[in-house]
Amino acid sequence: MVTYADRINSLPPYLFAAIDKARAESIKKGVDVINLSIGDPDLPTPPHIVEAMKKSLDNPARHRYPSYEGMLSFRKAAAQWYKKTMNVDLDPENEVLTLIGSKEGIAHIPLAFLNPGDTSLVPSPGYPVYNIGSILADGKPYMMPLLAENDFLPDLDAIPAHIAKIAKLMFINYPNNPTSAIASIKFFEEVVDFANENGIIVIHDNAYSEMTFDGYKAPSFLNVSGAKDVGIEVHSLSKTYNMTGWRLGFAVGNSDILAGLGKVKSNVDSGAFEAVQEAGIAALLGPQDCVRETNLVYRERRDALLAGLKSLGLPVKPPKATFYVWAHVNGSSSEFAKMLLEKAGIVATPGVGFGESGEGYVRFALTQSVDRINEAVERMRKLDI
Ligand SMILES: *Cc1c(COP(=O)(O)O)cnc(C)c1O
Repeated sequence: MVTYADRINSLPPYLFAAIDKARAESIKKGVDVINLSIGDPDLPTPPHIVEAMKKSLDNPARHRYPSYEGMLSFRKAAAQWYKKTMNVDLDPENEVLTLIGSKEGIAHIPLAFLNPGDTSLVPSPGYPVYNIGSILADGKPYMMPLLAENDFLPDLDAIPAHIAKIAKLMFINYPNNPTSAIASIKFFEEVVDFANENGIIVIHDNAYSEMTFDGYKAPSFLNVSGAKDVGIEVHSLSKTYNMTGWRLGFAVGNSDILAGLGKVKSNVDSGAFEAVQEAGIAALLGPQDCVRETNLVYRERRDALLAGLKSLGLPVKPPKATFYVWAHVNGSSSEFAKMLLEKAGIVATPGVGFGESGEGYVRFALTQSVDRINEAVERMRKLDI
């Protein structure tokens, strides 16, 4: 008889595991399942990045324990990339920290800044790790609803003053998963003011900064003056360079906040494989045509799905960023997703899986070809939705 710790027992039920199980059952029954639920690029890592890893593998120096904070050459590449893409100046020595994927960093941050019972501000719907990382640190997540009428930005004025006063951490993420919403510099300025007034550390997750369309350029949180005094930005090579399996990301910004995260990490992990970091350098400093080409693919898929949804009476405003389409549906999102799978062999993610305020929406990920997306739309046309 195994007894789990309270923090494990208090985790919310993992809805995605249930979806995976239902999907596996459908496939077993012979259903030709179209999976529009996963936020994992179906396109391969660009060849020049793969080649860099192959070359690095032959160097025995790369086979040893990496440094905790990451290779200086990788951190320099990240700083150079930040200057070029975001126009943000960073000191690679103490304002860049290598992560084993950004999820790792996000999950460990609350351990550095929350004492048991401390409050973190977490978007709902949101990437589940903000909430779960806080719970694993025995913290108390306070949900900030992301609502359509606020363009899926948290309403900072709606956070009760007594909560704002005790909150230690705030997580934000724009371009946003799952809503695909974007944020303006003005919103980031409001966040910096709010953080200063209340003594809150801000973690901005910018995983989708490069996955943008129609000429839109996503800002960095660090573009706002004073942002580096209150926060950090977390970045990932996963979506930008189709490198989800490689596990490489980095955090940038306030050196004291990064030092706190680094302290947790140096006691938990032993850094990212140096051959992976060298591939990361090739990604960050190499030709960027691959990013533009990938975005063209997603834009074509986005347009195919939006045209289809519109023809079904489910209009969605074209997202300017991310590979997600956040569609409003009638009734329960779980029931809707269940119906899609059972009656049409389509897997989509019910919005409620990202938090209570995601109810009423379904997330479609553009990680299938245009042909498969069109096929999904035709299957939906036969349903009563
Ligand atoms: C995919 C994703 C990440 C992920 O990344 P890794 O670097 O692969 O751990 C982080 N944040 C959001 C919002 C994501 O959607």
